[in-house]
Amino acid sequence: QANPPTREYLYKILVVGDLGTGKTSIIRRYVHNIFSTNYKSTIGVDFALKVVQWSSEIIVRLQLWDIAGQERFGNMTRVYYKGALGAFVVYDVTRPQSFEGVTKWKQDLDAKVTLPGAWGGGHIPVVLLANKSDLLQDGHGQAIQPQEMDKFCQEQGFAHWFETSAKDNTNIDEAARYLIQSIVSLE
Ligand code: GDP
Ligand code: MG
Repeated sequence: QANPPTREYLYKILVVGDLGTGKTSIIRRYVHNIFSTNYKSTIGVDFALKVVQWSSEIIVRLQLWDIAGQERFGNMTRVYYKGALGAFVVYDVTRPQSFEGVTKWKQDLDAKVTLPGAWGGGHIPVVLLANKSDLLQDGHGQAIQPQEMDKFCQEQGFAHWFETSAKDNTNIDEAARYLIQSIVSLE
């Protein structure tokens, strides 16, 4: 008996957010399962590939685009965003100022990226990551109010939010699965 044909999808995923919020750390944790407190950031475009066996018939190749050194401008070019099918917006739970960046990044995405026409051409799914949650447990920053976050996500058009820690490897796989599901369901 023949196996069902395997389908392979390549998804370009953007990871944006203010400088120092943990974008590179999240990608490194997700792709290589490592964390370090100190490493050089390169200027330019950096991306990492993660291959996910999504189901018995579907393989998803996630191309995670890391903005390296350009996030201080608070926006990116259309060319950089081109062809993206999903995004993470990251903020640092110990720095309220980085949460202000969230709205700005979401607006930048909404203004510059749309789904392919065959998929309706609307906004790409975007998941909000409240990163460095390990520091909340250590008494830094303000505890997150889940109901307020739900409301914020609804108002701003985020698909969902997760409290993550690249350090402790908390919720990163879950957040990625949520985003992949959001995109697969558009296929
Ligand atoms: P980026 O500028 O958004 O790419 O941020 P980085 O990934 O370079 O992280 C900035 C700093 O925050 C680094 O010193 C990381 O080690 C630290 N960091 C990133 N994620 C976490 C986390 O989940 N918990 C803690 N405690 N530190 C983190
Ligand atoms: Mg970085």
